[in-house]
Amino acid sequence: MPAHDVLIIGAGLAGQRAALAAADAGASVAILSKVHPVRSHSVAAAGGINAALNPGDSWESHAYDTVKGSDYLGDQDAIEIMCREAPAEILHLEHIGVTFHRADSGHLGTRAFGGASAARTFYVADITGQAILHVLYEQLMKHHETVDRYEE
Ligand SMILES: Cc1cc2nc3c(=O)[nH]c(=O)nc-3n(C[C@H](O)[C@H](O)[C@H](O)COP(=O)(O)OP(=O)(O)OC[C@H]3O[C@@H](n4cnc5c(N)ncnc54)[C@H](O)[C@@H]3O)c2cc1C
Repeated sequence: MPAHDVLIIGAGLAGQRAALAAADAGASVAILSKVHPVRSHSVAAAGGINAALNPGDSWESHAYDTVKGSDYLGDQDAIEIMCREAPAEILHLEHIGVTFHRADSGHLGTRAFGGASAARTFYVADITGQAILHVLYEQLMKHHETVDRYEE
């Protein structure tokens, strides 16, 4: 009977990122997924990820836009955590291999999503979700001794 410290159901961007965090913390992890991880629906995300990383931008502005964009129905505590942590997460993803678009200056480049009051969308051409899925999958392979996948 297999035994694991952590069981994660779903291997899209959320599940794989959670698995990587758990594995990095030393846990033995099982990922259960209906499809192969890199075929998860996250592969369809094209536009990019928002984070208030540019000078002059703020997590509060990102949070306000997100709350407003949800017609004030979003969980504001969750939105605060997401917007506070997003800048460090973008840098972490870049450091582990996501080839985010760069501006002519060499800095990470951004574009503005609809509803955003600043250009804070970080992206990989029109394959942002696919690019991140593959990098997370590669990173999880480093933990092959402690991360097991149960697919399909
Ligand atoms: C066309 C499109 C474009 C998008 N563009 C953007 C964008 O530009 N920026 C952005 O931020 N968001 C975008 N989104 C939204 C974003 O892609 C999703 O919110 C995000 O990818 C969801 O990730 P997830 O890991 O929660 O789910 P998913 O990637 O859907 O993963 C779900 C996982 O659960 C597993 N699963 C499902 N059912 C079962 C079951 N019964 N048993 C076991 N496992 C199961 C699947 O196998 C899969 O691994 C877009 C969405 C779409 C459809």
